[in-house]
Amino acid sequence: MHSGDVRRESSIPAVLALWIVLNSDPFDSTFRAMKTKWDVIVVGAGHAGCEAAAAAARTGASTLLVTHKLETIGEMSCNPAIGGLGKGHLVREIDALDGIMGRVIDRAGIQFRMLNRSKGPAVQGPRAQADRKLYRDAMQSVLAEQDNLDIKAAAVEDLLLDDANAIRGVVTGDGEELLAPKVVLTTGTFLRGLIHLGDKKIPAGRVGDDASYGLSATLDRFGFSLGRLKTGTPPRLDSRTIDYSSLDEQMGDATPRPFSDLTDRITVPQISCHITFTNMAGHEVIRNNLGRSAMYSGQIEGTGPRYCPSIEDKIVRFADKERHQIFLEPEGLDDHTVYPNGISTSLPEDAQLDFLKTIPGLENVTMLQPGYAIEYDYVDPRELKATLETHKVTGLYFAGQINGTTGYEEAAAQGLMAGINAALAVDHGEHFVLDRSDAYIGVLIDDLITRGTNEPYRMFTSRAEYRLRLRADNADQRLTDIGLKVGCIGSARQKHWADKSAALEAGRTLARALKASPNELEKRGLSVNKDGHVRSVHNLLSLPDVDMTRLAEFWPELNDLRADIVEQLEIDARYAGYLDRQEADIRAFKRDENLVLPTDLDYATVGSLSNEIRQKLSDNRPATLGAAARIPGVTPAALVALLRHVKRRRDEAA
Ligand code: FAD
Repeated sequence: MHSGDVRRESSIPAVLALWIVLNSDPFDSTFRAMKTKWDVIVVGAGHAGCEAAAAAARTGASTLLVTHKLETIGEMSCNPAIGGLGKGHLVREIDALDGIMGRVIDRAGIQFRMLNRSKGPAVQGPRAQADRKLYRDAMQSVLAEQDNLDIKAAAVEDLLLDDANAIRGVVTGDGEELLAPKVVLTTGTFLRGLIHLGDKKIPAGRVGDDASYGLSATLDRFGFSLGRLKTGTPPRLDSRTIDYSSLDEQMGDATPRPFSDLTDRITVPQISCHITFTNMAGHEVIRNNLGRSAMYSGQIEGTGPRYCPSIEDKIVRFADKERHQIFLEPEGLDDHTVYPNGISTSLPEDAQLDFLKTIPGLENVTMLQPGYAIEYDYVDPRELKATLETHKVTGLYFAGQINGTTGYEEAAAQGLMAGINAALAVDHGEHFVLDRSDAYIGVLIDDLITRGTNEPYRMFTSRAEYRLRLRADNADQRLTDIGLKVGCIGSARQKHWADKSAALEAGRTLARALKASPNELEKRGLSVNKDGHVRSVHNLLSLPDVDMTRLAEFWPELNDLRADIVEQLEIDARYAGYLDRQEADIRAFKRDENLVLPTDLDYATVGSLSNEIRQKLSDNRPATLGAAARIPGVTPAALVALLRHVKRRRDEAA
C-alpha cells in the first residue's frame, strides 16, 4: 500500500530467500523479521487478532501479526466450541464478510448442532464443538496462506506515538521497534492477568502463558480508563477414568451443517458428548469450601460473567436447585481430555477433586488440570469510535476481550471490524460501520461504545431489536455486497456469492411467477379461501403445512431449485408479513442513525442540556443521533436540542 514499503521479496537476496523458504515452517520468525515497517500491526493472535490480521491483509494492507508464541495462534483458552445462540449469528456474519472463523471451525468441528432447531430460523443458532488441536492447526494454516500477512513471535511491551498523538508502531520486549501507522491491540485476558486457584495467585495471561504488564502500563500512561474483570474455566478430566455407562449420550446433528458458505460439507469425524448432573452431596462440598474459593474469599476484585457463572456462584445464587447440568465434552478426536461444561471454579485443587467425585460417572475420575479463575485489565469500550479506533490515539484500535467482552465469537467479530477499518484508514478510505439493523456485529459494537460494560459482555439474540431480519441463514444476503464495496471479500467468495445471488434472484422470480387460482389448487388437493385471488408459490409457502416438496407436485420445475435456495424461499414466504413491518421500523431507525454527530462537537455549546446529560454525551461521544438516544439517561428533549444544534451548525457551514 505504501509505495516506500520494502516488500518481502525485494529485501532478501534470491538465494537466501529460497533457502529460508525451504528451511522454514510457515511461521518462521527469522523470515518475518526482515521487514520493520507495515501498514497495519496486529498485537495478539487469539480470536480477535487472527481475524483482524486476516481482514487487514485481505483488505489490501501489508500486515504484521505479532504475538507471544507461534504455537498458540488460534488457541481456545476455555471451552472448545464455537457458536451457539447469538454467537453462531456472529460467526455467520464474519463468514459473510469473508472472515476466517467459520472456515476454521468447519475444518475442526467434531460435533455440529443447530440449537433451537424446533423454533423459528430467527433464533436458531449453529454451534460446533471443536477438536482443540485441529482448530489451532486450521487457523495457523489459513493465516499461513494469507497474502500480505507476516507473522512474528514477540511480546509487545510499549507503543510508539508521534508528536501529533498518532500511533507510529510498537516496541517488543527485546527493544525492537516495529513500525506501522495503524495498530490493533487484541491482547485478550493478558493485560495484568492474574490466575486464582484457591488462595494461590499466579501472574499469567492464561494457564501456561505469561501476563502482559508493559502494555497495561502504557495504556494507563496514555490516560485510558482501565477496569478489572474476571472469568473462569473448569477442571479438565481424563476420559479413560469416566464411567459413561449410566450417562445420557448427546449426539450431534445427523447431517452436520457447515458454518461457512465456502465449505461444501463436513468431513471431520463426529463424536457424541455425555450429560451428567451435580447433586446435593457435591453442593455440600462446595458450600463447605466456599471460604477457600478465590471468588468468595474476597481475593478477586473483578466482575465475572453473569451468564456463565462459576459452580460456586450457582450453588450460592440458586441455593434451592437440587442439581445443575454438566456436558462432558471431548476436547479432540485423539485426546483423552474432557471439558466438563458448566462447572468453572476457583476452589483449591483438593476441593475440586472432592466435588468431582460426587458426580455420577466421575466417581473415579482423574483431574488432568484444575479449574481456575483469571482477573485481567480491560479498557472501557466507550473510549472507542464505531470503527474501534480509540478517541485518544489516532490509528490505535482495540478489539476482543480487551474491550470487556467474553467469548471467541465476540472477539473475532470485533477483530474483523478493527482489521478492515485499520486497513481502510491507511489510505484515508471510508469507515466501515455496521448498524444495529445490519448485523449482530453492529449491535455488539454499538452496545459497547455507547453503553460500555462493567461485566464481561456476551452476545444474545435478545440484544438485537431486528431479530427477524438478523438471521444466521441470511448473513450473506445482508453483508456480502457491503463487504464487496469495502474490498474485504476474496475472489473465491465473490464467485460463490455471485452464483448464489443469481440463483436466489431466479428462484424468487419463479416463486412469484408460478400461480394458480383457488379452483385449480383445489383440483390438486390444496384448499384455500375461495376469494377469487390467484396465489403464487410465494403466497402458498406462507401457509402452514405447505412446503416446496408439496408444491413441486403441481409445478415440477421447482424440483430444479437448489436446496439452499428452497430454504430461503420458504423462509422469505413464512416471514414476509412480519418482515415488512420490521422494514418500516428499520427505516425510522435509519433516519436517526444517519444523522452523524461531528466528532469535534463541543457539548458545552449545545443549549438546553442539563449538566448531567452534557457530561454523558461528552464522555461517550456518540457517533450518531441514534447512538446518543441509546445512552442511558439521555432524554427525548435532549435529543431534540442536539438535533437542532447539529442542523444549525450544518446550515451555518453550508
Ligand atoms: P485471547 O484469545 O486471550 O488472545 C490474546 C492473544 O494476545 C494471545 O495470543 C496472547 O499470546 C497475545 N498477547 C497478549 N498480550 C500480548 C503482548 N503484549 N504481546 C504479544 N502478544 C500478546 N469465554 C467465554 O465465552 N466463556 C467462558 O466461559 C470463558 N472462560 C474463559 C476462561 C479462561 C480461563 C480464559 C483465559 C478465557 C475464557 N473465556 C471465556 C474467554 C475467551 O477465551 C476469550 O473471550 C477469547 O479468547 C478472547 O479472544 P481475544 O482474541 O480477545 O484474546
